[in-house]
Amino acid sequence: MAITTRCSRLCDLAAVDPAYRRHVQQLSGQPLAPPRATEPEPGQLPPLWKQAANLSAALVRHVAAGMPTTPTEIQAARLAICQACPRYQADSQRCGTCGCYVAVKAAWEQESCPEGRW
Ligand code: SF4
Repeated sequence: MAITTRCSRLCDLAAVDPAYRRHVQQLSGQPLAPPRATEPEPGQLPPLWKQAANLSAALVRHVAAGMPTTPTEIQAARLAICQACPRYQADSQRCGTCGCYVAVKAAWEQESCPEGRW
């Protein structure tokens, strides 16, 4: 049976530090569960079906709310948060969690960060 990781600092360390991971594996003599992704790879986005579902839901919310636009200074603040976020995909300027273009997401007033950052 593989050692399963349950949210703890040592397990998080095993996920990001290959040397620690090897050490734990040697001590236990058992394979560890695959490391969790902590940050998206460049270009990594949700599956297409999920992106389509997220976009559809955002469009419905936007239209239902009367298509309100976020004030410029709030858009800038939202974008600054996105650009500092580990989920931000700089190459495509999209959110790695929902797949949305962050400039559009920030401009639609009723939208919010899927990870609660704004
Ligand atoms: S919407 Fe949220 S999770 Fe996505 S890039 Fe912006 S801050 Fe990060």
